[in-house]
Amino acid sequence: MKAATFRNLGILAHIDAGKTTVTERILFYTGVERRMGEVHDGTATMDWMDEERERGITITAAVTHCPWRDCILQLIDTPGHVDFTAEVARALRVLDGVVIVLDAVAGPQAQTETVVRQAAKHEVPMLLFVNKMDRPGANFELAVEKAVERLHPGVIAVQLPFGQGSELEGVLDLVEQRLLRWKKADLGVELEVSAIPEDQKDRVAAARLELCSRVAALNDDWIDLFLDSDDLPNDILKQGLRLGTTSRELVPALCGSALHNCGIQPLLDAVVDWLPSPMEVGSPMAIDPQTGREIKVEPDPKAPASALVFKVAHEEHGNLAYLRIFSGTVHKGDALFNTRTGKREKLQALYAMHADHRDALDSCGPGSLLAIPGMSRVRTGDTLCADDRRLLLASIEFPEPVLQQTLEANDASSRDRLAELLAILVREDPTLHFQEDEETGGYLLSGMGELHLEVNLHRLQREFKLDVRAGSPRVNYREAVGTQNSATGHLEIPGDSGMRVDVRVRLSPSEEMAPQLILAPGLDPLPQALLDELQNPQILHGWVGDEGFPLAQTQVLIESWSASSERPPSLDIFLGALQSAVAAGMRLGNVVLEPRMDLHVEVPDEHLSAVLADLQQRHSEILEITMEGDIQQVHARVPLSDMVAYSTSLRSQTQGRGSFQMTTDGLMPRS
Ligand code: GDP
Ligand code: MG
Repeated sequence: MKAATFRNLGILAHIDAGKTTVTERILFYTGVERRMGEVHDGTATMDWMDEERERGITITAAVTHCPWRDCILQLIDTPGHVDFTAEVARALRVLDGVVIVLDAVAGPQAQTETVVRQAAKHEVPMLLFVNKMDRPGANFELAVEKAVERLHPGVIAVQLPFGQGSELEGVLDLVEQRLLRWKKADLGVELEVSAIPEDQKDRVAAARLELCSRVAALNDDWIDLFLDSDDLPNDILKQGLRLGTTSRELVPALCGSALHNCGIQPLLDAVVDWLPSPMEVGSPMAIDPQTGREIKVEPDPKAPASALVFKVAHEEHGNLAYLRIFSGTVHKGDALFNTRTGKREKLQALYAMHADHRDALDSCGPGSLLAIPGMSRVRTGDTLCADDRRLLLASIEFPEPVLQQTLEANDASSRDRLAELLAILVREDPTLHFQEDEETGGYLLSGMGELHLEVNLHRLQREFKLDVRAGSPRVNYREAVGTQNSATGHLEIPGDSGMRVDVRVRLSPSEEMAPQLILAPGLDPLPQALLDELQNPQILHGWVGDEGFPLAQTQVLIESWSASSERPPSLDIFLGALQSAVAAGMRLGNVVLEPRMDLHVEVPDEHLSAVLADLQQRHSEILEITMEGDIQQVHARVPLSDMVAYSTSLRSQTQGRGSFQMTTDGLMPRS
């Protein structure tokens, strides 16, 4: 399969906008699934979670292949909840385009904005699908208008709905100027094409004029053409839509109803026609690990191979690693070099993943998404490359976990098993961390939110059948120096050969999350091995402040040092003295920090005052309240410690009709 015929695609949406239903329909119309999937309407959080886990393609495969026209769509699954941002972030590193699904009644919602921001950060082209056009109150034009305001200024309608609400019959195609209709009887498989009905001509003409003017603005020659005729020839219109979408200046908006099998085939056509192939997206940034110099990675099948690992899934017999090939061709039996570990990894088999099975392949070229079994040393974010061109692809950045929970097993053997399983979970999910808990003798698991911890606890209990107890989730606190100060510390080795080292440091507050160590200019010379160690960016990792929380947002400057003997100090004694100086500085004035959360709550109007009163009690800062229909959207900033178990309390305040989403937004002083 040539790279030009791939479309690496993700579908992103706010929960309940219809991502699962749209995906099911795509699998059905492309012939991957023989039967059309049914979505069961779950109202409780657990319902949709189970549904996503069991029905979605998350578990069986991170990628599914579906053929459409002369292309292969490689559909990358992304989960529907913000606690799983890591999943979205890693998907965005390997996909080349996204379809954003909107609920036609609700319009763009908080999570849609979040994922659109993420897509923008990764410069991924987008299409918009305004779903649920069959619902009473659905309004395509209004949804497009809101999307222009809140998602992307380049959103532009390429269709109009034909019939509204339960009378929805099809869509008016503004490009080909025709009516597309679907029949209920055959699950929408056959598409009926006809001319634009007389009474729709004015509506279509006005919308097409707008479309042509936006496309014409991309190119000076086209502007002249447009001004002459108030229109553009169809070949130029199509060329412009492709150009505008791949360059991210335009976001074509389509509409339909996934549930009623209306509008999916034109969406697939739009993916093939307007979203880029791997050949068209710019080559990713890569560096030579030896020299730090940039290397250009071309999507050329003859170039040396390079691939990024974007997911690792645990399997009965070793791990399955998902990779995207960026350059070169890999063959079954080849070995690739892992730049992080310095080890060679043999490709025992290459699999193309499908919804419910895998196909073994002999070779794969640029743009391919594939899975490789038996990769136990590989982690998410690793680069695998040809031995004769070693390089490092920009890895995937993951946020720091904000909540932690103690886990205890009932006996020694299940404790060992727990440690093994935690190692497996952490390898699959880079936003999950664990460490031994000295207080309880159990383990501390840290993650991105309550749901994130809950899902992983359930995996331990259900999937791995381990009897494990969990404490309630607690906030991951950090400690920073309060104001700039200087302090000294020392370490002395007793006995004849003993020596004493004194270190003086200056601690200052900093914006950087991780603590940093720097050396004052003119510092007395230190042995090279010690200097190398001090320059390691991870050097202060795990150091704690006065109250035992990890250091953050603090800069440590070594102002001076001295030793009681002529011999150069060893690493241990120097670091010991440094640590005591840092501890002394933190004692002079520290602040405990906690994660600050960006909160969006959606509630029906009648529950707004109860929700606001409650947020006040939780020390939140209300930033904005906006009204969409009869739904109030509250945007606030809150300390995480006040938000533990918020989902339960919001549910009771709103009789289950409120929803919220929370993402980390830096640190703030403990409330
Ligand atoms: P997801 O959370 O984004 O994956 O959304 P789902 O696909 O699970 O859909 C959420 C709910 O909306 C389900 O009850 C679907 O049956 C329903 N739904 C999905 N698409 C449509 C549609 O086009 N029209 C209507 N009326 N309901 C839909
Ligand atoms: Mg879903």
